[in-house]
Amino acid sequence: MSITQSLQQLKDTLKSSDRMPVVFLGHGSPMNAIEDNDFSRNWTNLGQSLPHPQAILVVSAHWMTKGSTLVDISAMPRTIHDFYGFPQELFEQQYAAPGAPSVAKEVISILASHHAEGDDTWGLDHGAWSVLKSLYPNADVPVFQLSIDMNEDLPHHVEIGKALKSLRDRGVLILGSGNVVHNLRRMRYDTNPYDWAIEFDQLVAEKLEHRDLLALSNRQDLGALLKMAHPSVDHYLPALTIAGAADDRDSLLFMNSSIDIASVSMRSFIYY
Ligand code: ZN
Repeated sequence: MSITQSLQQLKDTLKSSDRMPVVFLGHGSPMNAIEDNDFSRNWTNLGQSLPHPQAILVVSAHWMTKGSTLVDISAMPRTIHDFYGFPQELFEQQYAAPGAPSVAKEVISILASHHAEGDDTWGLDHGAWSVLKSLYPNADVPVFQLSIDMNEDLPHHVEIGKALKSLRDRGVLILGSGNVVHNLRRMRYDTNPYDWAIEFDQLVAEKLEHRDLLALSNRQDLGALLKMAHPSVDHYLPALTIAGAADDRDSLLFMNSSIDIASVSMRSFIYY
């Protein structure tokens, strides 16, 4: 089945339900924000296939905090251009969606035992807006970010997803943005993916299919393969939160399942 047919199936399935899917997108290069390519076209198609959300909560790999989980409570989150060495056009991009302070404050109370605190200084980093630009080009859905607490190990980020799951019944789209494999130190152009990149990508896909949250978050078992795929786990953690927000009755759809620049998996997944 083509991705267009799969997304149509997702759209048909969701007609009778208000329950929001949970989505993880591999964002890859910031250039995907302005390039018309297979990745960005599938994001656009996905945005048109999802039920219309009341608000979007984004867990981005690029908002790293230590010792707390910050929640953006600003009314108009600013667009952050958190990258270097890209064309001016990319720095000129704005994503002017409103924030969702009331939902954000509720998230702070839901995550009270996870050291959640409000923040009005961050805004939307490129992990968020580079995909939102294709998903919701009109920037008309309120959006706010949640940080990843780098002091906490993998299982904590699964727990965050479990805690947030109830928001799905209230029209909130929980969107993770990172990469299933992300090792920029080893990136190279015009060549095949590394074996370890393929292996980790396949492993994660298999564990997502089996809802094996323990395996996805067991650092010891993931071992050396995890270290190769993620010298730092920031781009992996949002995937764990999205997997945590899924449940057994969800169907699973993969999208953009390919490896870019030999060491970055663009694999995206939707539980619906
Ligand atoms: Zn990134």
